[in-house]
Amino acid sequence: MKILKTQTLYGPNFWSINHPHLIVLQLELEDHERRLSNEMSDFCDQLVKVLPGLREHHGSRGCRGGFLQQMQEGISIAKIIQHVALELQNLAGMPVDFGRIRLAATPGICRVVFEYQNPEAGRYAGRGAVRICQSLMNRGYYPQAELEIDLEDLQEIKAEDSLGPTTEAIINEAQKRGIPWQELPVRHVVQLGYGKYQRRIQTAQTDQTNILGIEFAGDKQATKILLEAASLPTPLGEVIYYFDELEEAIDQVGGFPIVIKPLDGNHGRGITLNINSWQDAENAYDVAKEESKAGGILVERYYRGKDYRVLVINGKVEAVAERVPAHVTGDGHLTIEELIEDINRHPSRGSGHENILTRIEIDRHTDDVLATQGYDLDSILEEDEICYLKATANLSTGGIAIDSTDIIHPETVWMAERAAQIIGLDIAGIDITCTDISRPLREVDGVIIEVNAAPGLRMHLQPSQGKPRNVTAPILEMLYPPGVPYRVPIIAVTGTNGKTTTTRLIAHIFKQTKQVIGYTTTDGTYIGDFLLESGDNTGRQSAQLILNDPTIEVAVLETARGGILRSGLGFNRCDVGVVLNVAADHLGLEDINTLEDMAQVKTVVAEATDDNGYAVLNADDPLVANMAKWVKGKVAYFSMNPHNEIVKEHLRKGGIAAIYDGGFLTFCNGQDTLQVEQMVNVPSTLRGLVSFMIANVLAASLAAYVQGVSIENISTGLRTFQASLEHTPGRMNLIELGKFHVLIDYAHNPAGYQAIGEFVCQWSEGERIGVIGGPGDRRDQDLKELGRLSTQMFDWVIIKEDDHTRDRPRGDAARLIREGICQEKPQFNYQEIWDETEAIQTALAEASEGSLVVIFPESVKRVIALLK
Ligand code: ATP
Ligand code: ATP
Ligand code: MG
Ligand code: MG
Repeated sequence: MKILKTQTLYGPNFWSINHPHLIVLQLELEDHERRLSNEMSDFCDQLVKVLPGLREHHGSRGCRGGFLQQMQEGISIAKIIQHVALELQNLAGMPVDFGRIRLAATPGICRVVFEYQNPEAGRYAGRGAVRICQSLMNRGYYPQAELEIDLEDLQEIKAEDSLGPTTEAIINEAQKRGIPWQELPVRHVVQLGYGKYQRRIQTAQTDQTNILGIEFAGDKQATKILLEAASLPTPLGEVIYYFDELEEAIDQVGGFPIVIKPLDGNHGRGITLNINSWQDAENAYDVAKEESKAGGILVERYYRGKDYRVLVINGKVEAVAERVPAHVTGDGHLTIEELIEDINRHPSRGSGHENILTRIEIDRHTDDVLATQGYDLDSILEEDEICYLKATANLSTGGIAIDSTDIIHPETVWMAERAAQIIGLDIAGIDITCTDISRPLREVDGVIIEVNAAPGLRMHLQPSQGKPRNVTAPILEMLYPPGVPYRVPIIAVTGTNGKTTTTRLIAHIFKQTKQVIGYTTTDGTYIGDFLLESGDNTGRQSAQLILNDPTIEVAVLETARGGILRSGLGFNRCDVGVVLNVAADHLGLEDINTLEDMAQVKTVVAEATDDNGYAVLNADDPLVANMAKWVKGKVAYFSMNPHNEIVKEHLRKGGIAAIYDGGFLTFCNGQDTLQVEQMVNVPSTLRGLVSFMIANVLAASLAAYVQGVSIENISTGLRTFQASLEHTPGRMNLIELGKFHVLIDYAHNPAGYQAIGEFVCQWSEGERIGVIGGPGDRRDQDLKELGRLSTQMFDWVIIKEDDHTRDRPRGDAARLIREGICQEKPQFNYQEIWDETEAIQTALAEASEGSLVVIFPESVKRVIALLK
């Protein structure tokens, strides 16, 4: 058994629209192909011994234990690998459950597909699953120690890529709301949404968090001055820079007990609480000095009481938590050290912020804190006696949180909300010390100790006691208030032929609305009139390039089969999904062997249209029209035939369609019709002569129409879009060269040849000459078909080869085309000149008066240079 290829999908894909994150393993099963699980003695029992969690898997039965039953009755090893890969991730703390398998046309090869949370962990789990199953089949066991290493590795990968609990919680909430997100390649910043509606967050800090607010919050003295000036209660305190100022400062705050801390500290570093002697104050001064970057030291009166964190989001208190420093509770037997070990073993404790709670570390502070209570690590506490291990209540040093949202006094709510605004933070963590949060601060000697920017959300989301508060919801509601979109309109265009042309035409129509249009095509990625990157940009990365751009107001994305199969769509949903046609091209690649398979690939675009969006489908192509049943949003059809039955039925039900009727582009909305433009006025159709271009025009206009573009703008767009070398290089570029015409077109598959043929056959001024060829990676039968079709549209042809033969021996594609010609018309007049330049030159030299020389080039740039 061997993994031949591993693919990672990131967007809606061939396998699933709702499970965008999938690993696809291409497996060579060798002699295991036909072996079923029940025929391998002991295999199932051993497997369940290694991974008991498999008992819980549903399998296709859809009930607990369903998978186990299936395994006992007999299923393929591929299906088992899928479940093992899922289970490994589950065990490593990454719950996933979606998977599929599919046999390839080649015997012994299959695809195993399963969900991941972390792509690297997913790939690892795939390899692990194969390893485990192989070991069980060959050796009859898989050592527990190895499984433990696998799980540790997986957990490590997870931890390394972790964005932290706060960011991850916000992302989860975004995902729930259908808001797309992605990590930017810098500083763990996460982008939400697309185009001009994108927002950014970095933990609980947003792109609108005021920089001055962050600075004030980071400077404890500035915070106090601002709050004090607004009559909010703050600790009595003095700032000093030199040791000889300490004594006076202590007097100023009313003597012991005091607190000493660095002015610019955080996470409780360098802070000493409840200082009661000059000796301790001296030590505390040194500790604080060491931690302080700027050298400022804050001496404060020590306020007794509990520690509360009040979370204010967008001007409102959303949660309150009491924070209790790390502590242990005695049982009369265990030492403090043993009690700590006991607590740290609890599954909710992890290192740093990786888990709900953090493990308690024993350090110098712990010894000090124990000493003030008269204990050391070996002391044994009485039953129920509480002993604190840290001076401050930070979760990151092992503290716990108790939700107190429901008991905070309304006046304190009002104060906290004011404090957040005074400091200037959209998300603020206000630290309050008082003996009882349910009473007004003034009655319980309460003070605002400080205000924190980017407060941690862990303590509110998963408090150790009390009600969890989903504080990520108000954050998202602040970033995207009701009615504010999170993505720009996305129009995705797929099909076998005409994608680039239609994409460009849609972009051109939208340009009439004066918005900033980003679009990607096989020729390059553009924003407005400017080229961002040239090249075949029809996959996920180029889509993301456009969608990540903050200037974009509308995105039009050519979406090709290759990209869909390789990595899934580059967006989670589109507003308009256009499917032009499905014809024979690229068959036999990546195990897509039939037109029906290919239709299924392209259906992904139709299926990924938003519930409120439109799939624009070709009613004349049964494979495309049939996609309607997968569309969750609405369907709009286009058709060259005003009597198309599907369209008629659709209109009867009140649907929308675009048809070509009596020389006009006509929009139908239920029984209402509107003539939009006469095709003779649309230059890209060569005054209505090129029917495939008319079809593209219908599709493009309809896509714009369902997105609300005005008829006037659509009409202007159509009239001003030229099939010129500049607008659509390589697509129906008809050029007059004195005594004859040249037509340059990228047609490279039978449907493309046929489409062009329709126009060529109408040429009556002279000879029809073809310079023909085809891409080397297509099936033999497709190349032969190109030859056959050429005999029907041309008087004579020159067969040429591409420079890049795509793994075929040089001359092989030409040979197949030649065979196609000879089979169809043995007497047909052809020459074979492999070099494209030479072939074109010959054709131009031999072209007679009035003739039409049709060139299907590999490189349009080269032809243009040649013609010049
Ligand atoms: P963090 O990053 O955890 O907020 P920090 O380094 O910013 O810590 P402070 O917030 O100033 O430090 O203090 C940490 C904790 O120490 C407070 O939450 C509070 O419990 C306690 N504390 C600080 N100053 C005082 C004070 N004057 N009186 C009583 N307790 C105090
Ligand atoms: P590719 O897969 O190479 O990116 P594409 O789908 O983007 O192709 P275009 O570049 O727009 O297609 O057009 C390529 C050729 O396909 C055109 O030059 C024309 O010959 C033919 N073609 C364009 N539109 C259609 C159509 N609607 N039906 C059939 N053939 C078409
Ligand atoms: Mg603090
Ligand atoms: Mg294209």
